[in-house]
Amino acid sequence: MFESLSDRLTGALKDLRGKGRLSPADIDATCREIRLALLEADVALPVVRGFISRIKERAKGAEVSAALNPAQQVVKIVNEELVAILGGETRRLTLAKTPPTVIMLAGLQGAGKTTLAGKLAKWLRDQGHQPLLVACDLQRPGAVTQLQVVGERAGVPVFAPHPGTSIGGGENALGVTAADPIAVAESGVAEARARQYDVVIVDTAGRLGIDSELMAQAAGIRDAVKPDETLFVLDAMIGQDAVSTAEAFRDGVGFTGVVLTKLDGDARGGAALSVRNVTGEPIMFASTGEKLEDFDVFHPDRMAGRILGMGDVLTLIEQAEQVYDAQQAEDAARKIGSGELTLEDFLDQMLAIRKLGPIGNLLGMLPGAGQMKDALAQVDDKQLDRVQAIIRGMTPAERDNPKIINASRRLRIANGSGVQVSDVNQLVDRFFEARKMMTAMGRQMGMPGGNRRTK
Ligand code: GDP
Repeated sequence: MFESLSDRLTGALKDLRGKGRLSPADIDATCREIRLALLEADVALPVVRGFISRIKERAKGAEVSAALNPAQQVVKIVNEELVAILGGETRRLTLAKTPPTVIMLAGLQGAGKTTLAGKLAKWLRDQGHQPLLVACDLQRPGAVTQLQVVGERAGVPVFAPHPGTSIGGGENALGVTAADPIAVAESGVAEARARQYDVVIVDTAGRLGIDSELMAQAAGIRDAVKPDETLFVLDAMIGQDAVSTAEAFRDGVGFTGVVLTKLDGDARGGAALSVRNVTGEPIMFASTGEKLEDFDVFHPDRMAGRILGMGDVLTLIEQAEQVYDAQQAEDAARKIGSGELTLEDFLDQMLAIRKLGPIGNLLGMLPGAGQMKDALAQVDDKQLDRVQAIIRGMTPAERDNPKIINASRRLRIANGSGVQVSDVNQLVDRFFEARKMMTAMGRQMGMPGGNRRTK
């Protein structure tokens, strides 16, 4: 996701590196590059204009800083502005004070609503909620069955009309039949209340294009179930059309948050960068594949870091936290920031990361991965086994302070772990390099000796 944008932006910023002073001409040239990169990524023109003018203004007025060189300062400004454009703070789901919380999904056909309904249901269930899915897409053939399949996979029940019967045995207050999505939505919420489900997710129908009937139906469902959250589901691959579609849904139905889908397939990603700015509503979730797990809360700061190719140290740390001790992860974040990382930490991190899956999947999140993709692609799990063996062959004192690993210690470690001395040399050298780089990255990302997780 965002690969070409990321490459272009990192390229634009790389040209500044090594310059002791930045002239106004340097800043203009960089801004021009950034502008082109954004336009090429399909970011809406007014959004690009605002973004560039803020960067220019801030870069030219940037104060002399002892901690950062001018180029780093521009990177910092671009990062901060990217975070702002993506919405600033992470926006969490609002739960109703009195359950059930009603979440309505709206969007064009094919945007990924039904898929998302399953992902959201599973995500809520994993957090201890008791969600109920309600099938109100009675337009698209097979949509109800699709939701039932998705619900089964997510382990979440689905409330759906039986074809040809009336809702609630025909005794529904409105006296409407199953073909009426508004009645299904109402009955679904009533069902949730009666059976103590605490979250209701209402899947609605979409059309291939925006039309007034679609909007009227969605607005009717909205009025009937009074959702606590209305999520506008937006296919990130539709490019420039994203803005007009979002505006049409904002005016026709209204929404409280956006879910971006198909970010996995989106090489350009302009929708993500425009939609918040244009509609004023936050991006709340991101969908990155067809499987139920390909889904996460949208964190503007992490996404900006990823776009700028700084990698996503924070996501890695948070994921690692899930597989081991929280305290250990806190320590690692602090140590990354302050440059105190030891080989012991390195091994702990590596073991934790390996629990998360094959290393190839994690590459995109590593710092600097944008520029090191090719080199990293050669890292395989076998090599990691060897690294692990070498570190295990070290004494605790050596792991704690790798500087003491002299020639005779290297020989002993190599013999003990069945590798060549050159392998040990390489590992130790790489560790020092990585530590230096991570410390610099940590500083750039604003975690000097601390951490800024947004949990
Ligand atoms: P709906 O019409 O809005 O309910 O859309 P669906 O949920 O049926 O999704 C339309 C198609 O997009 C299906 O083939 C999904 O498998 C696919 N899809 C949904 N979300 C994603 C995603 O995040 N990434 C990818 N690659 N495909 C997705």
